[in-house]
Amino acid sequence: MAEPRERKCPICGKPASDEFAPFCSKRCADVDLNRWLTGTYVIPARDDEPEADDEEA
Ligand SMILES: [Zn+2]
Repeated sequence: MAEPRERKCPICGKPASDEFAPFCSKRCADVDLNRWLTGTYVIPARDDEPEADDEEA
């Protein structure tokens, strides 16, 4: 049984609209974008990768 995918707006929890998926509205999309821009989302900082050390001695 394939259920239709229910997408909920991550901002307000309302059903997402196709147009603004995964958000329900432009407003919520803007809110999300703003969170990104203002750094509300925690993006794990990633140090420079150490030199690849694949080969085993
Ligand atoms: Zn929403």
